[in-house]
Amino acid sequence: MKCVYKSNDLYDPTLQQLKERLEQVAIIPIIRNEYIVGAYGQLPGQLPELWVNDNDFAKAIDHLKNLQTQAKNLKSWICESCGTHLEKQFMICWHCDSNRST
Ligand SMILES: [Zn+2]
Repeated sequence: MKCVYKSNDLYDPTLQQLKERLEQVAIIPIIRNEYIVGAYGQLPGQLPELWVNDNDFAKAIDHLKNLQTQAKNLKSWICESCGTHLEKQFMICWHCDSNRST
């Protein structure tokens, strides 16, 4: 297996998002080091990482690069369900849990 993403901190919401995005394209990643946080408290150098099978590595990297490009182009948005104004980094409305439509 190969690592495709390393978190910068222990509670990195990006990690979970990336995992879900990869699952959407039929890549099943695993998260390493995640359990250590809860079980033993903070261990230096043991930040969560996202790993995929060797066979999926190239596809996963391609997909993550695409996501990065998309993220750069994101703008702040307005929830279609409730009209809440949201900053660009949010993919879900914090007010009503609706998914971002664009
Ligand atoms: Zn909303």
